[in-house]
Amino acid sequence: MAATPIHDPTRAPSEKSGTQVRDTTCYMCACRCGIRVHLRDGEVRYIEGNPDHPLNQGVICAKGSSGIMKQYSPARLTKPLLRKPGSERGDGQFVPIEWDEALTLLEQRLQKIRATDPKQFALFTGRDQMQALTGLFARQFGTPNYAAHGGFCSVNMAAGMIYTIGGSFWEFGGPDLDRAKLFVMIGTAEDHHSNPMKIALSKFKRAGGRFVSINPVRTGYSAIADEWVPIKPGTDGALLLALIHEIIALGLYDREFLARYTNAGQLVNQDSASDQFGMMLRNAQATIGNPLRPANFLWWDRLSQRAMDDHSDGADPALLGHFKLDDGTPAVPAFQLLQERVKAYTPEWAAAITGIPAATIRRLAHEMGITARDQKIELPIAWTDCWGQRHDSVKGNPVAFHAMRGLAAHSNGFHTIRSLAILMSLLGTIDRPGGFRHKAPYPRAVPPNARPPKGPDAVKPDTPLNGAPLGWPESPDDLFVDAQGGPVRIDKGFSWEHPLSAHGLMHNVITNAWRGDPYPIDTLLIFMANMAWNSTMNTVEVRKMLNDKREDGEYKIPFLVVCDAFQSEMTAYADLVLPDTSYLERHDCMSMLDRPISEFDGPVDSVRIPVLPPMGECRPFQEVLVELASRLKFPAFVTPEGARKYRDYPDFIVNYETAPGSGIGFLAGWRGKGGEKSMRGEPNPKQWEMYAKNHCVFHHRMPPEHQYMRNWNQGYMAWAQSVGLRRDNDPIVIHLYSEFLQGFRLAAQGKRAGKQPPDALRKRVETYFDPLPFYYAPLEEQVTDRTRFPLNAVTQRPMAMYHSWDSQNAWLRQIHTHNYLFVNPQVAQAAGIADGGWMWVESPWGKVRCLCRYSEAVEPGTVWTWNAIGKAKGAWGLSEDANESQRGFLLNHLISEELPGQLSNSDPITGQAAWYDVRVRISAAQPDEAAMTWPQFKAAPQAPGTGVAPRWRAFFAGKEAKK
Ligand code: SF4
Repeated sequence: MAATPIHDPTRAPSEKSGTQVRDTTCYMCACRCGIRVHLRDGEVRYIEGNPDHPLNQGVICAKGSSGIMKQYSPARLTKPLLRKPGSERGDGQFVPIEWDEALTLLEQRLQKIRATDPKQFALFTGRDQMQALTGLFARQFGTPNYAAHGGFCSVNMAAGMIYTIGGSFWEFGGPDLDRAKLFVMIGTAEDHHSNPMKIALSKFKRAGGRFVSINPVRTGYSAIADEWVPIKPGTDGALLLALIHEIIALGLYDREFLARYTNAGQLVNQDSASDQFGMMLRNAQATIGNPLRPANFLWWDRLSQRAMDDHSDGADPALLGHFKLDDGTPAVPAFQLLQERVKAYTPEWAAAITGIPAATIRRLAHEMGITARDQKIELPIAWTDCWGQRHDSVKGNPVAFHAMRGLAAHSNGFHTIRSLAILMSLLGTIDRPGGFRHKAPYPRAVPPNARPPKGPDAVKPDTPLNGAPLGWPESPDDLFVDAQGGPVRIDKGFSWEHPLSAHGLMHNVITNAWRGDPYPIDTLLIFMANMAWNSTMNTVEVRKMLNDKREDGEYKIPFLVVCDAFQSEMTAYADLVLPDTSYLERHDCMSMLDRPISEFDGPVDSVRIPVLPPMGECRPFQEVLVELASRLKFPAFVTPEGARKYRDYPDFIVNYETAPGSGIGFLAGWRGKGGEKSMRGEPNPKQWEMYAKNHCVFHHRMPPEHQYMRNWNQGYMAWAQSVGLRRDNDPIVIHLYSEFLQGFRLAAQGKRAGKQPPDALRKRVETYFDPLPFYYAPLEEQVTDRTRFPLNAVTQRPMAMYHSWDSQNAWLRQIHTHNYLFVNPQVAQAAGIADGGWMWVESPWGKVRCLCRYSEAVEPGTVWTWNAIGKAKGAWGLSEDANESQRGFLLNHLISEELPGQLSNSDPITGQAAWYDVRVRISAAQPDEAAMTWPQFKAAPQAPGTGVAPRWRAFFAGKEAKK
């Protein structure tokens, strides 16, 4: 008889053991894997991946299993805190107060602002996952001054892709590695799809797929790539345009796909005397299907040699050529213009910019083209397109891409990402097997239907905004500007400076509010964003701005509220601190109204369900928002008689509907009175219980005929419209050529009626709003002396930590307690810097002393480091001599949030923070210098209520924790 193992992990726990296992969703990074949390006597003892969860299928990473040390971190805030009367901001002197006092204080202040000038209140949030709720709060308050972290993170990725193909990477789409043969990853660190990407990559490699990684640095995913192609930061656009050049020159584009599913064949007006120059030509007599998005375009039919309505039966559009309409208007297909645009973008031209040999660019283009052409996939799935044509199968060209912040966080990122989306389209890989595939709620219209508010009149006392504070401008008339063309938002989003800033510009809020440009504000509420440290550029100066006072002695930003779970660098500057719960202590939802965790085969949303009670007096921020919204009597949160509608956040999630009776709420699963409906249905009072019984996740698998070609799939469109994923059911044609961008250019040229840019910005708008992608050097590079600052400097999020979240984590900080600047040995040696030696890295904006580490895995023109390992002394519950502040450093000190002329250091189209554009030089530290990173800051004292740890965690970062 086999002996019973001493420890059998599969055995059910003994009833006497006090052990419980509870399902919830991880939040140690933004991937949101399913987890099982093991509790003993009410304490977390073990966290494992949930094998029944579709996203991670049981896989857990080091961060996920270290959630236990986040839960019991001594850096946790446990009491509401008020800045001590008479103390200064930044000193970190607080007195604990009761929640009721904190809420009453906020209620009274916000009530006054709302009744007078709602835009005096600004709400900006970090990498939270509840933007549908925070956005609703701002909208109901009536302030346009709201955004999450997207402008600082990857809005270029979202906007560049969505304005081209109606979908984007990560949450809204990704590479189909189950069927791809060639996978090209470009500009991607580990934070954008962690476990799911690792699972998919391991299967892909085992199946014999070829993986090419294009990145200045070979780390993480790149380490297992079959080929690493080092590239200079900010030059990806040049590479992509050269690849497009080659694919077109070799005739390796998917003509059939381009002709039917993109605007390649649509005719563009070439009459330079016309105010319609560069706009699509239309048939005014054609039946207009959707008046909001008329699609009465013209093709030049190759067979009859005349202009015809697009997608006319039997017509085949010319993609190349110059034509004349019957009225004499010169016209060319959009593809002709693309071909002309990329003519000069040869591999040799790109080689000089990117550092990649021309032969490599040629080889990669050829490999992409022939893999797409010669290794086609055909699935026996019949479907009908939006123009009524039946197809017997779904075809795929198995070349897949994945890209992220490495492309996005540059001031030329929007056009780079448009180039990538166009390359993917030329290869015929959009929403097809083996290529890029959408995830619900995408695809959406190009651009999606939500528009920002249109002018100062949208902001009225005691009145919600007419629509969401953020949106997708389609034309200059959608800009959020005043009569003079000036910005209405505090971050200048949707102004002529950054017209398509769909995610706002969080990185400019403090500077603008401090300067009073365009106006001062009264109260800034920051949730989960470390804006006195790594979530800001120009950190040293921003910290001074937070402390700066007006002549009357009042702070320039008079009231600063910070809600966070941990004592960060930011909390020291707060006037009021609200202690948030950990992710294990609250309800939460990853909603279809926000950023769900959908799979290629259908919508997926998920929830968190508390596995523990809140520590101390922590309260979930969601509850705070529902409470404040109810007290302030926001229309969506009270009955017509003014009575409170929602007991608490879980009650709100179950009962809130996007419109009365819409049947659409935050969660798509188990709707209907008894939970019998999916996606749409009446509120179900037992919805949370049903999620709890189903591993906290709802997965709606669509029939195979709805899983592909969704931009143009009639059946999918009808279903998506019926469940509210789309407003309309018209096809989402890929915009190789963007007449939306051309509309802005015409306005800048004075050829378009309606809103006009201020004269000072006309040239800028005319230059960057090009309907076709083009390459320009990053804006910072254009104003920097490259001989004085010859190197690019970038950061990456480490594999074992999620940005700044984990330096308080006792397990994870054993992996990274300080960071190095990684420098190619040849470059370091030329500067006389030793491996492991102290060195200076200097940009035009500041300098930092740090430790050097030689690395062959970085191209010689780049230096890099891990993001947010370095900490300010005393923050995050660390002792004053912890490695994080003594040997770790923050690169953000070197990055400016503005360029000369007080223009934001951002993409001129989307406002994406260009924090990967900084240029630096390096030198050795002198032997007599302190062996310590610089700059150093005054240590913030431990806040009341922090430092608490369970009995089995006596020490943390050298300090004995309070029991
Ligand atoms: S990948 Fe992210 S969400 Fe998944 S287990 Fe790791 S930390 Fe948690």
